[in-house]
Amino acid sequence: MNTQIVVKVVGKVREAEDIVSFELERSDGQPLPPFSAGAHIDVQVTPEIVRQYSLCNQAGETHRYLIAVLRDPASRGGSVAMHDQVGLGDVLTISEPKNHFPMVPAPHSVLFAGGIGVTPILCMAERLSNTSAAFEMHYAARAPERMAFRKRIEASPFGGLLVFSAISDGTQS
Ligand SMILES: Cc1cc2nc3c(=O)[nH]c(=O)nc-3n(C[C@H](O)[C@H](O)[C@H](O)COP(=O)(O)OP(=O)(O)OC[C@H]3O[C@@H](n4cnc5c(N)ncnc54)[C@H](O)[C@@H]3O)c2cc1C
Repeated sequence: MNTQIVVKVVGKVREAEDIVSFELERSDGQPLPPFSAGAHIDVQVTPEIVRQYSLCNQAGETHRYLIAVLRDPASRGGSVAMHDQVGLGDVLTISEPKNHFPMVPAPHSVLFAGGIGVTPILCMAERLSNTSAAFEMHYAARAPERMAFRKRIEASPFGGLLVFSAISDGTQS
């Protein structure tokens, strides 16, 4: 990690089956670096493990970051440690936001999200909605109960435009 920021977990919420969100605030009370939609942070999950998580709060917020983590059944430790070992009040070291997935200006944007991939897409949808840009969003998951942030999306100004779909890979969800 380059620049290191020390944050405290101020919220931990079950968002869907196997998906938990973490709300992070800077431990020293200072503002966090601003970020753009599509950005992620590196999280030092354990002394040995660093994992990347997309920011899924409103781009521009500097009082907090929100990330959501899917528990990976084949995990070598990162997501499982986030689920099982990181809780309210815990302190984590993170990087400043990086964006390798920036939005490009377009007359009409079409956003596709699958499963936990909704995290950067939700941030993009809110950004587009806030700027009155034309867009549509399609969100698929293996089952409705595995769709994180569904209530937040449905309650948003663009909730009525969203296309939800359940997809199956032939295995049990
Ligand atoms: C830019 C970016 C943003 C991301 N945003 C999010 C997010 O918002 N939410 C989220 O939940 N995740 C996100 N991720 C994924 C996240 O960083 C972790 O990879 C994820 O949590 C799994 O970590 P883990 O340690 O539990 O699993 P890992 O041990 O890293 O395993 C992940 C997968 O790799 C496979 N694997 C295990 N060992 C090997 C091996 N030796 N060789 C090849 N494959 C192997 C496993 O089958 C497993 O399914 C993001 C990743 C990137 C790069």
